[in-house]
Amino acid sequence: MPASLVLTNGHIYTLDLANPRATAVAIRDDQIMAVGDDDAMKELLGPGGEWVDLGGRFVTPGLVDAHVHFQHFAISLQTADLDRAATRAEALERIAAFAVRHPETGWLRGRGWSQDAWPDRAFPTAADLDAVVPDRPAYLAHKSGHAAWANSAALKLARIDATTPDPPSGQIQRDADGNPTGIFFEDAMELVAAYIPKPTPAEVADAMRQAQAYCWSVGLTGLHDFDGRDCFTALQLLREAGELGLRVVKNIPVYRLEHALGVGLRSGFGDDWLRIGGVKIFADGALGSRTAAMIAPYEGEPDNLGIVVTEKEEMLEKARQANAGGLSMTIHAIGDRANHDVLDVYELLRREERANNRPRLRHRIEHVQVLHPHDLNRLADLNVIASMQPIHATSDIDMADRYWGVRARYSYAWRTMLDSGALVLFGSDAPVERIDPLPGIHASLTRRRANGYPGPEGWFPEQRLSLAETLYAFTTAAAVTAGQERHQGSITPGKLADLTIFDRDLTATPADELLDVGIAGTVVDGVFRYRTW
Ligand SMILES: [Zn+2]
Repeated sequence: MPASLVLTNGHIYTLDLANPRATAVAIRDDQIMAVGDDDAMKELLGPGGEWVDLGGRFVTPGLVDAHVHFQHFAISLQTADLDRAATRAEALERIAAFAVRHPETGWLRGRGWSQDAWPDRAFPTAADLDAVVPDRPAYLAHKSGHAAWANSAALKLARIDATTPDPPSGQIQRDADGNPTGIFFEDAMELVAAYIPKPTPAEVADAMRQAQAYCWSVGLTGLHDFDGRDCFTALQLLREAGELGLRVVKNIPVYRLEHALGVGLRSGFGDDWLRIGGVKIFADGALGSRTAAMIAPYEGEPDNLGIVVTEKEEMLEKARQANAGGLSMTIHAIGDRANHDVLDVYELLRREERANNRPRLRHRIEHVQVLHPHDLNRLADLNVIASMQPIHATSDIDMADRYWGVRARYSYAWRTMLDSGALVLFGSDAPVERIDPLPGIHASLTRRRANGYPGPEGWFPEQRLSLAETLYAFTTAAAVTAGQERHQGSITPGKLADLTIFDRDLTATPADELLDVGIAGTVVDGVFRYRTW
């Protein structure tokens, strides 16, 4: 059987130790057929097959974003984008412009604001928002996803006033008189969000069609999703229609654990397009809202240890149930206390796996944002995967220094994790950050922002990774995490033909210039989904 597609004259970076570099690759239908030199690969081409000259472009296994909220990302492409608004005034200008472009009368939605990036660091108010959106309810999610900003129309619709109590794991921000300011933290966000009409799965699937095209244009061929049931339904709708063009690992929120166990769902069920990952639990909150659970108080806030979203005992109980049913765990932990608790849970879980002769499931921690020095080796010791987001490090530099002080030394500690022997997995946490992998690759190699901040050395530069380590974290590590390493994660004959094509040789590109690199093409399942030449 001949090749259907042959790519020649490139820099093929296979991430396959048996054959690390080549100039050409031959593909038969959905699979890598052979990897080698131009002449040998061209000979494999059958009649009607396509030959593509890469013109020196750089090819890696398809990049996978291992932490995405895909439904939220897809919907976010249809909401006001406040990411990187430098001031409250700029945020309000963008909202006003969005309101003009979207005159429809329903909820105005937005995301990505962060008062931490504004000069006065003061939270905005409902009144600020009323000035630009007086006519309809507005709800704007904080960059962290752990706070929200609503206008007066939204508060009125949700019947929230000075008499509304805080929910158990959330807080309504109030002024000196006890009146709600328009800012909601954690579970209090739902007091407003519950009133926003939910898109149907078919509407979500529509949004995902656009979103996956965007993913191809930035070089992604797969993702691990952390949204809920409607997201899973929408993904299945796309898959049924033969339109799903990304390899998706679907994680399950813990509030659906009983249902998942009830139908006997196990991690790894599904196919190469859509498969079940682990059960997602939140151990704590986030850094920006100072709700990440810490062992010692936040700098300058002697009473603030953050918020424990799920107590250790409850986490263990859920993890035990999941584990016994063959479901791996994937636990959100930001603060050192949260990470410590999760590691304790995994320690007991590993013991039970051994005692009951169960397979060692591929458990992960999401973010691993700051670790206590005593816990630095525990992920490796327990064979727990460190699912991290390089772009968070450079976004969070100032917050981490300010709120964690000297503890920031062990935050976003990719190098420490790798050197300890842990598997490091990379993603973006989109829509919290942009889904584009290149800014993440740049952050991983430089520990600097696009504008060079905080200087030539980078932030805790000893934590920088090499290009090879970074690409591994975006490819092979994702395949290993999901138990897909036999089919994905390297350019190896027999594996699926998922490729990311960059416009220049990354190994010859100075790290500082990585943000100038473009994605030249994306191949999924042996088909060009995106191509610039
Ligand atoms: Zn997330």
